[in-house]
Amino acid sequence: MVKTRTTIFTGPKQLEVREVELPEVGPHQVLVKVRACALCTWEQRFYKGSSPQDYPFRGGHEVSGEVVALGSQAVCDARVGDPVSVAIMTRCGACNSCRRGMDNFCENDDGGALPGLPWGPGGLSDFALLEDYQVYKAAPGRDFCELALAEPVACVVRSATMPDLEMGDRVMVQGAGIMGLIHVMLLKHFGLRVMVSEPDETRRAKALEVGADEAANPLEDGFAQSVKDFTHSKNFNAVFFTAGGVPAIEQAMPLLSKGGWLCLYGSIHPKGPAQIDPNFVHYNEIVITGTFSHTKKSFRQAVEILSEKIIDVSPFISERIAFPDVQRGFERAISPDTYRVVMTFDH
Ligand SMILES: [Zn+2]
Ligand SMILES: [Zn+2]
Repeated sequence: MVKTRTTIFTGPKQLEVREVELPEVGPHQVLVKVRACALCTWEQRFYKGSSPQDYPFRGGHEVSGEVVALGSQAVCDARVGDPVSVAIMTRCGACNSCRRGMDNFCENDDGGALPGLPWGPGGLSDFALLEDYQVYKAAPGRDFCELALAEPVACVVRSATMPDLEMGDRVMVQGAGIMGLIHVMLLKHFGLRVMVSEPDETRRAKALEVGADEAANPLEDGFAQSVKDFTHSKNFNAVFFTAGGVPAIEQAMPLLSKGGWLCLYGSIHPKGPAQIDPNFVHYNEIVITGTFSHTKKSFRQAVEILSEKIIDVSPFISERIAFPDVQRGFERAISPDTYRVVMTFDH
């Protein structure tokens, strides 16, 4: 039995760090000593207030750490002491979605439930007990806070690789939060010209800092002209929506070129319909697509990208706060002046 402190969300703004016992490491399981856990928007929603049936919830899904024990039959390239990034959502490998290579829609994802513990991925803990396929070996010597960002990077890899783009194409990223900016970094590696659409001036400056070729304010009159200048009146081969709600989606459509892709990466809160002109889609062969979460494939890519430092995610780590001060962590995470707040663990 391994004892671990773990974070339970019991209600809005109510967090409890409790000591619990994890089950014995099963033959196909891996025990990981958590070294960093980033506080993602998903958990921030539970912190701010979710529907009552969601509580109690064991949060924390952007996790890195070190292997401390491997089950007798665990299939895993990491050995004891190796640094790992953890894909904390479970996959069955046998349902229709998994067999179609769309394991992000696994029909048997149990949310990481462990016997006797509330539901949830449970990464805000000293130790995490995982299935072997959830553990990805990372390069030694990397910052654990950066390795904890494998999950958001994996989600963006899935989005950025979805449209059929060619080197030299022009794309727009809507929103310069962390997800928009990871899009910028990855898309620049594909040899694309990237314009960011973002109303906030500080965020536009950050977008240019991390590699965007242009950043413009979608709420200003000069925006249409900026698009014309940037694309030489050819419009965008793809627009990636990461923020801005329905108005941003409606603004994006007419800015697409023939054969252009509208990629809905972000969800909309509160939800609502958007107006889309079917004739524009028809006459221009527009592709509208969404991407959701990550697959095993995109997670593997993300861990390689971080291990090889193909992109540098350090500008997104706004603050490091030592566990167990999760309350302060979430108060900082929900503040608009932070990208990612990461909880660190000293063992
Ligand atoms: Zn996340
Ligand atoms: Zn499945």
